[in-house]
This record gives sequence, C-alpha cells and structure tokens, in this order.
Amino acid sequence: MQKYEKLEKIGEGTYGTVFKAKNRETHEVVALKRVRLDDDDEGVPSSALREICLLKELKHKNIVRLHDVLHSEKKLTLVFEYCDQDLKKYFDSCNGEIDQDIVKSFMYQLLRGLAFCHSNNVLHRDLKPQNLLINKNGELKLADFGLARAFGIPVRFFSSEVVTLWYRPPDVLFGAKMYSTSIDMWSAGCIFAEMTNAGRPLFPGNDVEDQLKRIFKLLGTPTEESWPGISQLPEYKPFPMYHISTTWMQVVPKLNPKGRDLLQRLLICNPSGRMSAEEGMLHQYFSDLDPSIKLATDNSLILQGRS
Ligand code: AMP
Repeated sequence: MQKYEKLEKIGEGTYGTVFKAKNRETHEVVALKRVRLDDDDEGVPSSALREICLLKELKHKNIVRLHDVLHSEKKLTLVFEYCDQDLKKYFDSCNGEIDQDIVKSFMYQLLRGLAFCHSNNVLHRDLKPQNLLINKNGELKLADFGLARAFGIPVRFFSSEVVTLWYRPPDVLFGAKMYSTSIDMWSAGCIFAEMTNAGRPLFPGNDVEDQLKRIFKLLGTPTEESWPGISQLPEYKPFPMYHISTTWMQVVPKLNPKGRDLLQRLLICNPSGRMSAEEGMLHQYFSDLDPSIKLATDNSLILQGRS
C-alpha cells in the first residue's frame, strides 16, 4: 500500500469503497477498491484470489484495467485504471437530453467489451450504469468484470443499500443458477433503453415480483411454448397473461427503428433467444457508426488458461 497515495473517496460500490489514488513512483492516477468480504476474519478465499489474478490478464480498451491485486493482513485491495466518471453520473449531467450518436457509440463499446469478456468465458453478472465508466474522450469501459464469480453478488451493499434488480433477466429472477453470457445481454438491453431515454430506467422494480411484472407487462408473459422449461426454474411462479398496451415507440421514442430492432433482440425473456454481443456489434443499427469508433485498434490480449 506504500506504493499508492490515497486521494479522495470516489464512490461506494457493491464490494467496497473506491478511492482515487496516485502511484508514488510513476504518479499514475488509479482507482483503489478495498474489497470488503463477508467475513474479514477468515481472510480472502484462495478460490477468489485465483479468479481475481486471472482478471489481471483481461486486457481490452473497453474493460477497466486491473493493474494490481494487493493482498495483505487478510485484506484485499484492487488497483484499477482510473476513469473520469460513471454512466449514472453522466446521465445526471445530461439534464434529460442525450445525443443519440453518443448512445450509439456507448452501446457499441459496451457490446465490444462484452464480446471480449464472453469470448474469454468471463461473465459480468451485475452490469448497471454505475459500473460503466466513461472518459472525457468518450471511451466507455466496463468495471467489476468477473468479480461476481470471485465474490458472489451480495444481497445488500455493506452500507445496507439494496442491490438493484433493475438489470436482472427473468431467468435469474426466477432463480436460474446456470449462468451464461445471456445474463449480461439482458442487462445491456436495459442499459441501452436507459441511455436513449437519458437515464430513465426501463424496469425500475421494487422487488422480484414487481420486477418480473414490469418486464412481462412490456414484453408479454412467457409461456412453456415461448420458453420451454420456464416452469421448472427453482423460483418460478405463474404470472397473469398481461395485455400489452405499450409500443416500443412509446418506450424508447428517441431510438430509431434499427435501434429498436436491436433492443428487442436483447430483451428476450427466454435466455436462449437473446442476441450475443458479437452478433449485436454486427447489427444494422451500427452501420453508420463513426468509423473512428469502430476501427479503433483493438490491442486486446487473450486471457489464457480458463475453461
Ligand atoms: P463499483 O464498485 O465499481 O460499483 O464502484 C462504485 C463507484 O466508484 C462507481 O459508480 C464509480 O463512480 C466509482 N469508480 C469505480 N471504479 C472506478 C474507476 N476505475 N475509476 C473511477 N471511478 C470509479
């Protein structure tokens, strides 16, 4: 820890407090995340440490770089690349107006970061605007990738704030334990809709039942026919067949038809029907994307040694 000079606190996240800090030797500014474990006395589980150390190899321009893992006195501090702000704060600064070209650029970068992690068998599992970080030059980077697998997703923050359900897909809300890349694609869809609406969340549910109700009122209640196996999910319970009364035009009025098509391919209740990140990047919605964003050289290194 001597290596870093702690500057101000920048946020509270799912896993602990985040500080801005400076490397005393190189003067590089970083973000330090002190991970709070459920039972600090037990120390850091070796399985978690192994997971985290693999994440150091996950190098991509749309992923917040994990520079270092500091493990001492049963405490764990993760040293990340510093970013200017998160998407939630960006929305707050937009005053309800967001340029749809910026939305397109952010969405493309989100899909590119996801495609990279998914191709390396790393899932996020808890994507939300707070862990999409952006830089002044319009770069978007995904934070906290892979941490859910290492530490699990707690029900509450240590500050007792409830962890949000807004970006969780119906399969996970029904208790599915077989996590796959499709979990992140649902969250990406919710974030896409929220971006085009300048920060208004698509499904701001209060609890699991309310969350599912909001989803089914927009998309229709899934059935065994549209989603074989749904009724076998651990926490499945039947919902009324809602009459769909809202159009996509009403839900995302600023989004053009191609964008609405992409959104609908992400927000599919049956996880096996959801579009992948790689497919998403090839969608027509991005055909007129600023070429400098599409072509930005990809200096990613492939994460080795994961099954
Ligand atoms: P998180 O634990 O990732 O949810 O972090 C909580 C908050 O801390 C985020 O919403 C950000 O505002 C901030 N934060 C997290 N990581 C970084 C980072 N690498 N650079 C700058 N701010 C960060």
